[in-house]
Amino acid sequence: MDLKEKIRVIEDFPKVGISFKDITTILDDGEAFKYTIDSLIDLVKDEKIDIVVGPEARGFLLGAPIAYALGIGFIPVRKPGKLPGDTLRYEYALEYGNDALEIHKDAIKPGQRVLIVDDLLATGGTIASVAKLVEQLGGEVVAMNFVVELTGLKGRDKLEGYKVNSLVQYE
Ligand code: 5GP
Repeated sequence: MDLKEKIRVIEDFPKVGISFKDITTILDDGEAFKYTIDSLIDLVKDEKIDIVVGPEARGFLLGAPIAYALGIGFIPVRKPGKLPGDTLRYEYALEYGNDALEIHKDAIKPGQRVLIVDDLLATGGTIASVAKLVEQLGGEVVAMNFVVELTGLKGRDKLEGYKVNSLVQYE
């Protein structure tokens, strides 16, 4: 299947100059959704994975079905104040100001092998922060799987040392 054909590109969203890759057109197409989940799993078929971690919100939509198919757990990473238990927070710099992500402290057991999943790799800031949280809890990041990679933003360079996989690439 040509997955790129299933992704809707919307210009000037969420602001002028951004060419947004909309994956809701994969999610609402049963065949494309199944193909995407199966392909993301296939990328790590030779790895032993203990748990899947994904950031809100689109990381949930892909990470949870992957975990279900593998018969393993899924851990959500969220914006501050959303998770009810004791959390670990990681703050990271944006172009203007800061942002932060949180994970439940007891979600990962030391030594667990973690697959990180999100819809799209842009600058790599989000997923680098997710990896930091996983590693601070003693998890080992086995791979980072994305549906889309915006290669021009060089997120891969920021993620040196990690196994970074994507199904569809845009410049
Ligand atoms: P990064 O932190 O790599 O710069 O940005 C990646 C994050 O922003 C991901 O969580 C992703 O969901 C979101 N994102 C940025 N641009 C797009 C886009 O064009 N399409 C989609 N679906 N998500 C995007």
